[in-house]
Amino acid sequence: MRVGNLYRNQAGPMVSFEFFPPRDEKAETGFYTVVDELATLNPDYMSVTFGAGGSTREGSYQAVKKMMEKKLPTVAYLAGFGISPDEITGVLDRYKALGVETIFVIRGDEPRNDDFTPHPDSFSYASDLLGFISGRYDFDLGCAGYPEGHVQAESLEKDIEYLKLKQDKGAQYAVAQYFYDNEFFFSYVDRCRACGITIPIIPGIMPIYTVKLTNMLCKLCGSTIPAELKGRLDALADADAKEVAALGVEVALEQCKDLLARGVDGLHFYTMDRSGSVMQIVQQLKEQGLLK
Ligand SMILES: Cc1cc2nc3c(=O)[nH]c(=O)nc-3n(C[C@H](O)[C@H](O)[C@H](O)COP(=O)(O)OP(=O)(O)OC[C@H]3O[C@@H](n4cnc5c(N)ncnc54)[C@H](O)[C@@H]3O)c2cc1C
Repeated sequence: MRVGNLYRNQAGPMVSFEFFPPRDEKAETGFYTVVDELATLNPDYMSVTFGAGGSTREGSYQAVKKMMEKKLPTVAYLAGFGISPDEITGVLDRYKALGVETIFVIRGDEPRNDDFTPHPDSFSYASDLLGFISGRYDFDLGCAGYPEGHVQAESLEKDIEYLKLKQDKGAQYAVAQYFYDNEFFFSYVDRCRACGITIPIIPGIMPIYTVKLTNMLCKLCGSTIPAELKGRLDALADADAKEVAALGVEVALEQCKDLLARGVDGLHFYTMDRSGSVMQIVQQLKEQGLLK
C-alpha cells in the first residue's frame, strides 16, 4: 500500500493510526486487541513506530509482520539515529520482503541510554536518510513536519527549509507533530507552500488521555497547550481518568471538525496504543458524514 500515491489520488480525507510496537510478549495481547478494534474503523493505513538507535528494531518488525499477515494496510517507520547504512538496508530489506511499500523516515533522537554509541557512518538528518533510501529502494516515503518548529530547530523558517530538503530527497508526504491550536497548523502549511513545499501535510492528532501525559509530552515535543485548554486541564487535575478522556474526545472532535472543514487531506491519530478515545472520535466524525 503506497501512501504517497493514496494521498495524491484520495477521494476524501484519509484516516491513519499510529502505534508503538508492544514492549514485550506480555504487552502483545493488549496491543493486538487495540489494533483489531481500530481496524474495524477501516483506516486508510496503520503505522508502527521505530525506536531510535534501533531499540525497537525487532519489536517493530514483528508488529509490522503480524499486521501485514492480518492484511492490514501497514506503514513501517525507520528512525535512523545512530545506526549504520548497512543496518538501515538490513531493516529495509526485511520490510521489503514482507511486502511493505511505504516507509516513514525520521531521524529519531539520541537514546537516553549511556551505553549507546552512534555508528560513525550514521546519518545526521532525516533528509540524508531519505536521499540514501530513495536512491536504493522503490518505497513511497513519508517524513515529519513541525507546525510549531522542531524543538532543536534554529528557527521555524530554517525548519521549513529542511522540510523542503526532505521533499527534494524523496518524501512524498509529511505528517505533522501534534498541536492543539489549528492556527499553528494552517499558518505552517501556508509558509511551507510559500517555500515550494507541495507534498500533502497531514495534521497529527493527539487526543488528551491523561493530564500528566499531556503536560509531559507537550513539553518534550514543544507543542503549546493554549491557555483556555490549560485552564480546563488544570480544573481536572484531581478528576478521574474517564472525565479527562471525555474532555480529550470533546477537544479532539472540535479540532478535527475544524481541520476537515478547512480541507485537510487526512487526519493522523497518535493512538498511544489505546483504542477508546480514537474509536469515539472517528466514529462520531463518520456518523456526521465528515469522514468516509
Ligand atoms: C509523525 C511523527 C512520527 C515520529 N515517529 C518517530 C519514531 O517512530 N521513532 C522516533 O525515534 N522518533 C519519532 N518521531 C520523533 C522524531 O524522530 C524527532 O522529533 C526527531 O528529533 C527529529 O526527527 P526528524 O525526522 O524530524 O529530523 P530532521 O528532519 O533531521 O530534523 C532534526 C533537527 O535538525 C534540523 N535539521 C534538519 N536538517 C538539517 C540540516 N541539513 N542541517 C542542519 N539542521 C538540520 C531540524 O530543523 C530539526 O531541528 C516522530 C515525530 C513525528 C512528528
